[in-house]
Amino acid sequence: MNRTQPHLTIVIPCYNEQEVLNETIDQLTLVLHQLTLEKLLAPSSKLLFVDDGSIDNTWKIIARSSTKNKYVTGLRLARNVGHQTALLAGLERAQKDCDCAISIDADLQDDISVIRDFVEKYQDGYEVVYGVRHSRKTDTYFKRTTAQSFYKLMGKLGINLVYNHADYRLMSCRVLKQLSKYREVNLFLRGIVPMIGFRSTEVLYDRKERYAGETKYPLKKMLSFAFNGLTSFSVAPIRFITMIGFTLFFLSGIAGTYAIIQKLFGVTDAGWTSLMISIWFIGGLQLMGIGIIGEYIGRVFMETKKRPKYAIDVDLYTNKDPLSYLK
Ligand code: UDP
Ligand code: MG
Repeated sequence: MNRTQPHLTIVIPCYNEQEVLNETIDQLTLVLHQLTLEKLLAPSSKLLFVDDGSIDNTWKIIARSSTKNKYVTGLRLARNVGHQTALLAGLERAQKDCDCAISIDADLQDDISVIRDFVEKYQDGYEVVYGVRHSRKTDTYFKRTTAQSFYKLMGKLGINLVYNHADYRLMSCRVLKQLSKYREVNLFLRGIVPMIGFRSTEVLYDRKERYAGETKYPLKKMLSFAFNGLTSFSVAPIRFITMIGFTLFFLSGIAGTYAIIQKLFGVTDAGWTSLMISIWFIGGLQLMGIGIIGEYIGRVFMETKKRPKYAIDVDLYTNKDPLSYLK
């Protein structure tokens, strides 16, 4: 592993990013070029674009620029598998020949000038460098508060997350090798990377607005991402249901005793309302419990099948004629 002049691969998952991609390629090329000139990076360093089954011209842009730009290479996945899995595909490919890899989004929201700091930290001997946001002022109020509560909840459950860190980070080849041993289908990278350990540090940066195009993370995807993170690291939701179950059992015992005593003293209530309410209440609770348990069983089911997470359609590392794939 080369610490002084490492071979860096920057992994960039892209899904329908034709509006920003040319700009992203230009800006990242400049950064790589500058750092190789200063001998901070090996000249073989690469920009690895992972096309996550885009339906616009994303792949065309990647393939074309790979013929002109020596830094650019790419993978095209056989279909859209989502940001986390696309990123993983890139990292697994990068791990074969790099000393370290940086993951970054395609939309230039993350400040690329700190790539230099990432590399310097790596040279100082750190294995993981987390890009951490100074502030979340470019986010909507809603996203800020929901993100905050998510971090709090995960923290309470004892899950180690780096605050205000998305997937902008550097990982050394040792960490990447370890990462590739985690074979779970639902890989929540932000939770797994701190779990792997090794010497790590943080670099602060400001996150900007998207350069162009639209977010590919609408509310529904964001919620499912958070839920995924929670349930793949903790069985606390199941425990929560069990606790409620126990509490209700205990309370119903007290209520039952009270009713029997009332009966013995000849006082009876005609309690339709309370009866209905408790039936709905218990029924709802049971369904909720079954739902949560079902979610976990579903996960076990998915994991036991050991399906491959993605398929690579085109690999520009090995492909001699990238343009042959453009129709
Ligand atoms: N992305 C992807 N596959 C998807 C959705 C998104 O590879 O199914 C990529 C997208 O192209 C971008 C990154 O993941 O490079 C983050 O997406 P986005 O910027 O839309 O998310 P946000 O910054 O709004 O959370
Ligand atoms: Mg973005």
